[in-house]
Amino acid sequence: MTSATFVAPAAHGGLAGLRPRLPSPVQDVVDERFERRGVRLVLKRDDLIHPELIGNKWRKLAPNLSAAPGRTVLTFGGAYSNHLRATAAAGRLLGLPTVGVVRGQELADRPLNTSLARCVADGMRLHFVDRATYRGKTAPATLAAVLREADAEDAYVVPEGGSNALAVRGCQVLGEELAGRADVVAMACGTGGTLAGLASGLGPGGRALGVPVLKGGFLAAEIRGLQAEAFGGPRGDWSLDDRFHFGGYARTTPELDAFAADFEHRHGVPVERVYVAKLLYALVSLVEENAFPRGSTVAAVVTGRPFP
Ligand SMILES: *Cc1c(COP(=O)(O)O)cnc(C)c1O
Repeated sequence: MTSATFVAPAAHGGLAGLRPRLPSPVQDVVDERFERRGVRLVLKRDDLIHPELIGNKWRKLAPNLSAAPGRTVLTFGGAYSNHLRATAAAGRLLGLPTVGVVRGQELADRPLNTSLARCVADGMRLHFVDRATYRGKTAPATLAAVLREADAEDAYVVPEGGSNALAVRGCQVLGEELAGRADVVAMACGTGGTLAGLASGLGPGGRALGVPVLKGGFLAAEIRGLQAEAFGGPRGDWSLDDRFHFGGYARTTPELDAFAADFEHRHGVPVERVYVAKLLYALVSLVEENAFPRGSTVAAVVTGRPFP
């Protein structure tokens, strides 16, 4: 049997055949910093959806992989991308070939870090490109050249971070699961695809708050673009608070590290450091600024889990 004809059992039901825990649980957390201000904090545990396809990565990949039955899936990411790892894991679980286009030609000559090694162990073929090519990858000619060099011209292409119209519509379900259960639903944003869908699903009366983990202030325009692509126009009530990126993607400070360790210790919930730590830090700061009225419920989406 060749790899091209091999179909893993789970592939028959797509990702749904992998028995995700959906809707994901909502957990009440008693935290004195919120209690003092009369605010109820709940955690939306998307980190428990599936042991390997975690959080919003599940919600974004599931509709894309159902759209690409049996095809090689090619996607993009940096050396520590959660999205690359999730795509590689999905490929192994569903028996789909995957190709990861990785930012940084120089990484090709170095030993793989644990994140990329995991991708390879899951069967992903890695293709390294220089940073200029990586930046230009959405231009049709550049993309075509990358696909040709990666020997993957027939692949189904999922954009960096997994955010396309299908993914955004997949994340609308996250909002629907929380509709009427919180006054504010907050999450950490990378590409903004999850927030774009979440805001749409919350419906009237619900408000989504995004905490960008990248520096730059470009995210609102991206989210508007993603909503236009997915829904034909703006949806839902959402805003961003740009104050909590801690210097940029994967940057941290001793204060943030201490905060995350303390939150884990208080509540026994593992805190993913690239995204979730910044979200929780932001919420504690906001509650201390009296940003939420007494009597309100704030839901924090736990979009991921620490990578071992
Ligand atoms: C990818 C990721 C995000 C960001 O999702 P976007 O849709 O790109 O904004 C948030 N949290 C975690 C844990 C992630 O892995």
